[in-house]
Amino acid sequence: MKQYLGNQAVDIHQSGHSTHSIIETHVAHAKLEGGDESLIIGNLGDIVHKYNNWVRKIPRVKPFYAVKCNDDSAVLQILADLGANFDCASKAEIQKVLSMGVCPSRIIYANPCKQSSMIRFAAKANVEMMTFDNESELHKVKSLFPTAKLVLRILPPSNFKVQCELGIKFGVNPAKAIHLLRAAKSLDLDVMGVSFHVGSGCQEPEAFVAAIQQARMVFDQGLDLGFNMTLLDIGGGFPGHAGSFIAFDAISQVVNMALDKYFPAEEGVTLIAEPGRYMVASAFTLAVNVIAKRVVARDQNGSTEELNGEPSVSDQPAVMYYVSDGVYGSFNCLLYDHAEVNIKPLKYVDVDDMTFESSVWGPTCDGMDCILKNVQLPMHEVGEWFYFENMGAYTIAAASTFNGMQNPTRFYYCDADIWFDVYPEAVTGYHSAQHGLPFLRAGHSLHDTFETASEMFGESNGIMCN
Ligand code: PLP
Repeated sequence: MKQYLGNQAVDIHQSGHSTHSIIETHVAHAKLEGGDESLIIGNLGDIVHKYNNWVRKIPRVKPFYAVKCNDDSAVLQILADLGANFDCASKAEIQKVLSMGVCPSRIIYANPCKQSSMIRFAAKANVEMMTFDNESELHKVKSLFPTAKLVLRILPPSNFKVQCELGIKFGVNPAKAIHLLRAAKSLDLDVMGVSFHVGSGCQEPEAFVAAIQQARMVFDQGLDLGFNMTLLDIGGGFPGHAGSFIAFDAISQVVNMALDKYFPAEEGVTLIAEPGRYMVASAFTLAVNVIAKRVVARDQNGSTEELNGEPSVSDQPAVMYYVSDGVYGSFNCLLYDHAEVNIKPLKYVDVDDMTFESSVWGPTCDGMDCILKNVQLPMHEVGEWFYFENMGAYTIAAASTFNGMQNPTRFYYCDADIWFDVYPEAVTGYHSAQHGLPFLRAGHSLHDTFETASEMFGESNGIMCN
């Protein structure tokens, strides 16, 4: 059956359906209609699980989901409905989150270098919390939004391994933070806290300990200067899927210990974080179509020539697959996020099936558009499909349509028990669906749901934002 999150249809399944079988169904559908475009399939239940796991494992820290990571409206809506808050970096992101019925107080404008027009917009929209890391930003804020609640972003220690470093662009050296605090004081601005980001895809939990310790020092400097310091923001950097370099559990234990030591609960400081990858990476699976293929043989110089006819084992052939999505689309994560992707055949492959040295290329005319340079794959034909798991973070959010190539069509699903746990009021719709009555909608739709419910059942509601 289908439910709706905003305008997005969500397939509600009894639990036990594998993502693989769900992709097979969508691909079979696409084939029937002659479709050969990529598909990306979001398991919303996975996001619910991640959110709940966060609340269980790091209960003192409120998550502000980093919208930049994946601004898909179904993702934002289900997180909003679960009670998550949001980290936005621009006017458009703020607008998108507000349009979900989220209160401005649930948003942090976490971009230390903001466009003036966007600060003006934040002021109008009442999004008060915002980060800064330089003096000219303070002057902008003073003239455009003098009552903003400022959070000073400091540079984390750089001696820890991360997938994507952010310190080269943002964050004041903690040793210099005092100058910024003094500048804010002299401008009569309101600094309410300290933030940092250890780097995305943190590979050493100790990075958080060192950064929290430094944040404490800067926090105390703020208190000494008379600021009403009430917030610590520990940023993002949390792993997104089970195969990540370190487990979320390992990080959460270390983070909890460091917070208890440097920001004990009795002090009453509000603790927040800006997880992006953690919430969404594992929720999305991308299926790509083989749109073209070349079989080539390597000569002794290592270059290749095209083979006529089917390859034989002795030819040592290499296969070049051209697929329906590439680095200008969802695989931009290979460039910007330094991601590694894992390709899987959608069709059944026997363990004994022969594999061939292969490369996988995107659909554009650019030679840089290569997804995998060297991977062993069983032979595939044009029209067959591969899929990639863990494609929810820093993929579709930054995908372009360069060369006129289309971004993947999006589909969503959720296990029924998880869905009705989040949207108990939708159960009514589930039952009515069984009896031929219209479905209730969920989500922003929580709004719509109540509207629909009141239309159906004559009740009113006063939900404005939450
Ligand atoms: N917060 C800020 C300010 C960021 O720049 C980013 C990512 O670049 C994030 C949060 C999300 O980080 P992650 O996806 O590693 O959790």
